[in-house]
Amino acid sequence: MAQVTLTNVRKVYAGGVEAVKGVTFDIPDGGFCVLVGPSGCGKSTLLRMVAGLETISGGQVAIGDRVVNQIEPADRDIAMVFQNYALYPHMSVYDNMAYGLRNRGTPKDEIDRRVQEAARILAIEPFLQRRPRQLSGGQRQRVAMGRAIVRKPQVFLFDEPLSNLDAKLRVQMRVEIKKLQRTLGVTSIYVTHDQVEAMTLSDKLVVMNGGQVEQIGVPADVYRKPASRFVATFIGSPPMNLLPGLVDGPGIVALGDAILQARDLREDLPAGTAVEIGLRPEDVELVSEGEAGSLPFDIEFVEELGATQLFHGRLAGKPFVMQAATGEVGVQGGRVWVTVDAERVHVFDAESGLRLGRD
Ligand code: ADP
Repeated sequence: MAQVTLTNVRKVYAGGVEAVKGVTFDIPDGGFCVLVGPSGCGKSTLLRMVAGLETISGGQVAIGDRVVNQIEPADRDIAMVFQNYALYPHMSVYDNMAYGLRNRGTPKDEIDRRVQEAARILAIEPFLQRRPRQLSGGQRQRVAMGRAIVRKPQVFLFDEPLSNLDAKLRVQMRVEIKKLQRTLGVTSIYVTHDQVEAMTLSDKLVVMNGGQVEQIGVPADVYRKPASRFVATFIGSPPMNLLPGLVDGPGIVALGDAILQARDLREDLPAGTAVEIGLRPEDVELVSEGEAGSLPFDIEFVEELGATQLFHGRLAGKPFVMQAATGEVGVQGGRVWVTVDAERVHVFDAESGLRLGRD
């Protein structure tokens, strides 16, 4: 096992596309880091540079104490799990898992021991003699993971490994991957565009946008204090509402005629500074009409999600979505009154989109 350190890593593809624009962070030994961001943000390119499948245009990638920029993929002591599984169709599950070890000249007994152990961990023992086409998508994905496990690598690299599975299986495999990573304690980097996967799997979340890192942190912190408007709307579903506002005083913003306390707002901003106020759909609370600090919310239509309901409408005149436990609001339309805890009011610079927080 090993720490992975990226220092000012850059990638310029032939033709001049700068896919990764100087990225620096590290993943501690045994950590689970998820790179998340929209399509084209450079996350796969970054992962492939760690794997050695893309050359590094600038900066340094180190695995443990060793800078691997010039090291062949096969010698980096990593194992990669791909979206399309990349299994050999003509080989049995057993042989797929054993293949890499045989190539390295690992003794037969040792190969057998490792394959059996991985098969046991992944519950694929009954399928060892089958061909990949005789397996379900989920079982194939397990074989692909088995092939990575038997290598006992220092680092696992996952490239959108669940994208080909149906929604239910994705959730199940997500839990399995998390448990497996905890059990094995192998440093892991996982790429996805799915923010739920990113939140649930990672202990270090790296949000990327346009080839750069927008924010790094433990998932709960990224959710609680998004560093920018981009992160605020990318992490969380349904996304955070953004409403145009003005600074009204220290720790106070104005949303039209309404006033909101914002505990985290920097205090040095002059009144009248243009901002965007971020409110998560689940952070507004229904109150009685006329309660101090309450805002009018005009409900236009309701989406039923089962345990919760989404109320689409206008908050202080601006488009807004509120989420509440089913039955809590009790109406399907018309005006209600809501408040927001001052701890949960996010404020971003109207121009740069950066969080105007205290730290
Ligand atoms: P993501 O994984 O976040 O979807 P990628 O890392 O695949 O993003 O791509 C980042 C950017 O680099 C995109 O603009 C993409 O079009 C470009 N890109 C990816 N691969 C190549 C390539 N082989 N040649 C040129 N440009 C590429």
